[in-house]
Amino acid sequence: MKSHDKMNLENALNFDNKYTRELPADPETSHETRQVTNSCYSRVQPVKAGAPELVAFSREMAEEVGLSSELCESEEFVEVFSGNKVLSGMDPYATCYGGHQFGSWAGQLGDGRVINLGEIVNKEGRRWVLQLKGAGPTPYSRRGDGFAVLRSSIREFLCSEAMYHLGIPTTRALSLVTTGDQVIRDMFYDGNPQPEPGAIVCRTAPSFTRFGNFEILTWRGELDLLRRFADYTIRTDFPHLGEPSKEVYCAWFDEICTSTAEMIVHWQRTGFVHGVMNTDNMSILGLTIDFGPYGWLEDYDPGWTPNTTDAQGRRYRFGNQAEIAQWNLIQLANAIHPLIGEVQPLEDSIQTYVNHHRDTWQRMMADKLGLAGFNKESDNKLITDMQDLLQYVETDMTIFFRRLAALDVQSTVARSSSVHNLIEHFSDAYYLSEQLNDEYIVMLDTWITHYKARLNHDKTPDDLRRVKMNKVNPEYIFRNYIAQLAIDKAEKGDYSMVNELLEVLRKPYDEQTGKEELSKRRPEWARHRAGCAMLS
Ligand code: AMP
Ligand code: MG
Repeated sequence: MKSHDKMNLENALNFDNKYTRELPADPETSHETRQVTNSCYSRVQPVKAGAPELVAFSREMAEEVGLSSELCESEEFVEVFSGNKVLSGMDPYATCYGGHQFGSWAGQLGDGRVINLGEIVNKEGRRWVLQLKGAGPTPYSRRGDGFAVLRSSIREFLCSEAMYHLGIPTTRALSLVTTGDQVIRDMFYDGNPQPEPGAIVCRTAPSFTRFGNFEILTWRGELDLLRRFADYTIRTDFPHLGEPSKEVYCAWFDEICTSTAEMIVHWQRTGFVHGVMNTDNMSILGLTIDFGPYGWLEDYDPGWTPNTTDAQGRRYRFGNQAEIAQWNLIQLANAIHPLIGEVQPLEDSIQTYVNHHRDTWQRMMADKLGLAGFNKESDNKLITDMQDLLQYVETDMTIFFRRLAALDVQSTVARSSSVHNLIEHFSDAYYLSEQLNDEYIVMLDTWITHYKARLNHDKTPDDLRRVKMNKVNPEYIFRNYIAQLAIDKAEKGDYSMVNELLEVLRKPYDEQTGKEELSKRRPEWARHRAGCAMLS
């Protein structure tokens, strides 16, 4: 760009569409629903939005892709990220994938409400795929319309940025716009569809490739394409592994096992429940992907799932996520087995997953508790006793750990502290004070005594321990009821709370003056309200 040229999106975004350049395309270009074979994607154009309006953009993400705030607030930005204007460097497409849904093979799924605009390479050489979620039908839309509503788009936009700031591997979001069009949705699946405001999130990630992109090729017996797509993925997203070979395929799967284990431990650390861990929602990069009926644990309950469609079997409950990730990795192993021709290395990597998950989880729990390290002799029991404690009465997990950090362990005041003071100390974390019976009080007192003894063994000064604990135990998570409050306002045209949350969630580990309300436990009115407790 010459310096006197006016900066616009066209010259700010450096497109390099490797996916469409190097992989085979579906020869058809209509958006009619169909089976797409021997291809990785279908070219498809976004539908034009009637009266698009910007709700919010992520400034970190904008900067990362090379956009100034000024450009993000421009007329052109809304046009481009609502799908109304396709820039000359873009090459819009939807990808083909399959997946196991709730434990069964579901056949072809694909980007049914996502249209990739293209890939950019930023100044530092990092690659980002830009995609619109909710920009209209694609060949993969099946019975869906390809659109998205404002409430689910707010949830995806804010949650993915919140995850990023929490330090959790995740896909990101650049922008959120309303389309000005209505979308018909049966929110409660009760035969009562209603018009809702349409919206589009521009999602970003180095790659959106899912386990299901590989599974579909193997299930169809398209093994040449499987190899070609695996080679493409390794060269593009795992270049450090070297040129594809049998050994490199094994190392690749091993790395996917490791990064998936790490992602799950982050979810366990922060109380995130994905809600729909189908293999089409598992990222090859170990990123949290597809924010649908997810939720954040409030009272600690390993059996909790936010997803009403999963209420029966609770397959995707909080306490089952590590096992499900392993099950999903086994499906991926089956899919890439033809590349390797041997079972043993794949089984070894599944064992890597199990071991790496266990070790990372132990270190994470030690960090959450402020311990210098995980002691195998003492700490398993300390942790299980704590989990029992948290479940005996409804206890907010997030608040409990912040209060635990605040506990004085070394001062003399601490030693003489009464049980009453202890209950008082944790009071913000309790949902139902009437549950605080004598048995609980004894349990809490005993556990705290053991915890203090364990801390004294490390001899970490209180203030140092506090700082360390508050770096892994967030003050702010994207609480389900808070998301709903922001949605209620936004549906009335007031986007202030969306932007307020975006700002607060940028620093989730810091107590922020004036933002105390946003870290409080769920109020009782929200206990059973749709959107606050359960979603689908
Ligand atoms: P999900 O459960 O959101 O991961 O979606 C599973 C599959 O359904 C994916 O192939 C989606 O693209 C597709 N899908 C979900 N909602 C819609 C929609 N409104 N229109 C078209 N396809 C959809
Ligand atoms: Mg999905």
